[in-house]
Amino acid sequence: MPFDELGLSDKVLQAVGAAGYTQPTPIQEQAIPHVLARRDVLGIAQTGTGKTAAFTLPMLTVLETGRARARMPRTLILEPTRELAAQVEENFVRYGVNHKLSVALLIGGVSFNDQDVKINRGADVLIATPGRLLDHVERGKLLLTGVELLVIDEADRMLDMGFIPDIERIVKLTPFTRQTLFFSATMPPEIQRLSEKFLSNPVKIEVARPASAAQTITQRLVATGGDPASKRATLRGLIRDAVDLQNAIIFCNRKRDVAVLHRSLERHSFKAVALHGDMDQRARMIALDQFRTGEAPILVASDVAARGLDIPMVSHVFNYDVPHHSEDYVHRIGRTGRAGRSGAAFTLVAPGDEKSLGAIEKLIGGEIVWDGPRKAEPVARGADDEGERAPRGRSRRGGRRGSEEAASSRPSSSKPAPAQAAPERVAATRDERPQPRDAQPRTERPDHRPRRDADRGRSRRDEDTVESPGFGDHVPAFLLRPAVIKTRK
Ligand code: AMP
Repeated sequence: MPFDELGLSDKVLQAVGAAGYTQPTPIQEQAIPHVLARRDVLGIAQTGTGKTAAFTLPMLTVLETGRARARMPRTLILEPTRELAAQVEENFVRYGVNHKLSVALLIGGVSFNDQDVKINRGADVLIATPGRLLDHVERGKLLLTGVELLVIDEADRMLDMGFIPDIERIVKLTPFTRQTLFFSATMPPEIQRLSEKFLSNPVKIEVARPASAAQTITQRLVATGGDPASKRATLRGLIRDAVDLQNAIIFCNRKRDVAVLHRSLERHSFKAVALHGDMDQRARMIALDQFRTGEAPILVASDVAARGLDIPMVSHVFNYDVPHHSEDYVHRIGRTGRAGRSGAAFTLVAPGDEKSLGAIEKLIGGEIVWDGPRKAEPVARGADDEGERAPRGRSRRGGRRGSEEAASSRPSSSKPAPAQAAPERVAATRDERPQPRDAQPRTERPDHRPRRDADRGRSRRDEDTVESPGFGDHVPAFLLRPAVIKTRK
């Protein structure tokens, strides 16, 4: 069915044409007429299916009638992460070029004041993460009683991140008569329960994962030693040897590894940026922009920060760690091979990763091919990791330079990959660029308010924090205070 038979307005159809879309995707074809008929929709679909346009396009059409009122948004979209929220905003900008709608983005990590100004002026569309939205409500600056249409996106991720109590609170603040669109990639029992609670006689739409992804991605396993220096050396060898590498996302299981690996790659003259949950919003946006424009062709990221991001052209994905949750593997490799393009996904496998790997192969229904031997050759420890100094001033590892080739499980070619910059270029950009938060001394948040979006998420599964032994990199202040020992006279 072509776009112009779905019931969308002329203004929206023009914008869709300008975006270059010729055919609606299955979720768009199935959802748009129901949204326009003001039915509740339960959409089981993941990112990459065209899900965002499936709700933004009909919302734009619906919003052409009526006006926004101060502090009372007409529509509300809830997203689990700041990046996803910003991506939805971009969609409204792209498809809403012919409209004069006001869109407000309420996410953590940016000032309340600018957000207040937008809310006060009256927002047609409010796109928010749950924590920041509730902060605004609690400050008495926002009323949700005028919400005619509510979108709850990525509900299963909201569950993963511990946001469900917030979502339940927010939904209670909206009118009972609202229209609700509820999207989730999976339907665990808790999400099923919520959908039954929030939706009234919904139309259920289920679309398959984008089938093309798995077929266009070459997946390989690469054996590596388990210690960080070996893993980094193996990774560098892979990047240097990669065929047709245009850009790459490297996934780590923990955010502190993201920071360390990022610094290491920069020291080895790769043009890389980092993305993880501890960076402030500005640093995240700068990193993503540099990656999208190709200024930095390597993005080192954690799952939490990167999941759902729409970066259409990624040639390579490297899993620095085998993900603990097998579905994360599917999400990670799905960053490449999009829209029918070919892509490559390499996963480093260290001793002890067998269980996680087994779960992944079970999920994808087949064995992944090994690239080279299944067991890593012993690593010559040395100064290849000269730059891999642990953060916050721990001493460098000594030794000879040049163990890198030995450490890599693949022969390394001398030809530099496009991702690798001339050292002087990297040095120049490093000085010019704002450093991500992890590279700077930790400071208090300027507004002294709790980091709600982030903190709420910490309670459940947030791979940015799992398996951090003891206090991780953070030493609580009380441990740094000099101890007073009283002695008996
Ligand atoms: P999403 O699932 O919303 O993250 O969308 C995934 C990608 O598909 C985005 O890059 C969209 O710009 C793109 N897209 C959405 N709808 C269409 C369409 N009808 N035809 C082609 N591409 C589309």
